[in-house]
Amino acid sequence: MAENGISRRKFIMTGAAGMAAVGLGGLTGRSAAKESSGAPEIVTRTLGRTGLQIPVVSFGVMNSDSPDLIRKAIDLGIRHLDTAHLYLRGNSETVIGLILEERQCREKMIVATKMYFDRDKYRKVFLPEGGGRGFPASEAGFDEQLALSLKRLRTDHVDILYLHSCEGPLMAAYEPMMKIFTKAKEAGKTRFIGITTHAQEPETIRAAADTGVWDVVLTSYNFMQKHREDVRAAIKYAAAKGVGIVAMKTQGGVQMNRESPAQVNHRAALKWALNDRNVCTAIPGITAFDQMDLDFAVMKHLSLTPDEEEVLRKSAAATGSVYCQQCGSCLGSCLQRAQIPTLMRAYMYAEAYHNLIQAEIAMAEIPEGQGLDACGGCEECSAVCRFGIPIPSRIQSLAAMGFPGRRIA
Ligand code: SF4
Ligand code: SF4
Repeated sequence: MAENGISRRKFIMTGAAGMAAVGLGGLTGRSAAKESSGAPEIVTRTLGRTGLQIPVVSFGVMNSDSPDLIRKAIDLGIRHLDTAHLYLRGNSETVIGLILEERQCREKMIVATKMYFDRDKYRKVFLPEGGGRGFPASEAGFDEQLALSLKRLRTDHVDILYLHSCEGPLMAAYEPMMKIFTKAKEAGKTRFIGITTHAQEPETIRAAADTGVWDVVLTSYNFMQKHREDVRAAIKYAAAKGVGIVAMKTQGGVQMNRESPAQVNHRAALKWALNDRNVCTAIPGITAFDQMDLDFAVMKHLSLTPDEEEVLRKSAAATGSVYCQQCGSCLGSCLQRAQIPTLMRAYMYAEAYHNLIQAEIAMAEIPEGQGLDACGGCEECSAVCRFGIPIPSRIQSLAAMGFPGRRIA
């Protein structure tokens, strides 16, 4: 992967190449480079076969619709804005569109958005006839969604259009969706197409790469994942096939500047993902100016220091039961067939990100009878997480937040 801003040789000397080959258990990089004073140098990498050159730090516009944050991002030199049709009920796309127009900078920015479709969460397949609470997985559902997204973004095309939240390999290789997305690409409505995943990532990434259709994969990737070595191997596999890789959830669901049972060194966690040279860029969900400064400054010194390595080791041990891996292993422990992974994701949005809108949207993904309404009939929660996530107490917390369909105990 080409990398600009600092020479490839210097980058390797700082230990980044070595870090790319290690998981948390093998963080052996040395901080050979000295931090220089002044503004951070912008380090860019190439997004696979798209050829797009992107600073390694991008902006996930998911948890804030602040125009000033987007203005500041552009001023700093961030070039890639990542949003989704669903984020903040459309306000994320809307505010991006406003600022792009205000600044007249559409051409120099890389705008990515995502299309979400109804699915059967148990079988992990799309529903072409609909049946969920969103858009059917059909051309009509796609056209309606994309038209609205482009209108909000005030543009006639995006740079990357993702099939949002593929929860397994069947979804990443779903032929009708590949045809619909390819058609949009050929029509010039998007320059490149991709998939996103935060469940069964290794299998999903490999399946997406094997299709030869998707240009980009946006995946969860963080130092807390129990299966991070498998994710890393899949990323390597996809990158070797020319797929551009973007990392998300680099903080493992622990938000900076928020009270949390887990404290994570935000800078170190971001570096951990970026130290995999197969990752082009990461999209931290920035919500504050100081967080943006901190994230952006990571480029100044991408190598993990020994102290940061140690902090990550301790954090991973301390927070192992905080981050829901979306593995689905708990599903069999609930006789009501409640959608526990999605409930846990909603909890993360609400509790860790303080993004109640996104939590509500996640809750709305759950079919009737498989969410908190199912839990309402249980005297005692029998669900068990193999990683120690306290499912019963999180369900109680979601209920206490007033999400519909749940008896408040
Ligand atoms: S709660 Fe635990 S078992 Fe269930 S999906 Fe999350 S990590 Fe997996
Ligand atoms: S309370 Fe627990 S066991 Fe009951 S439906 Fe909800 S997740 Fe399943």
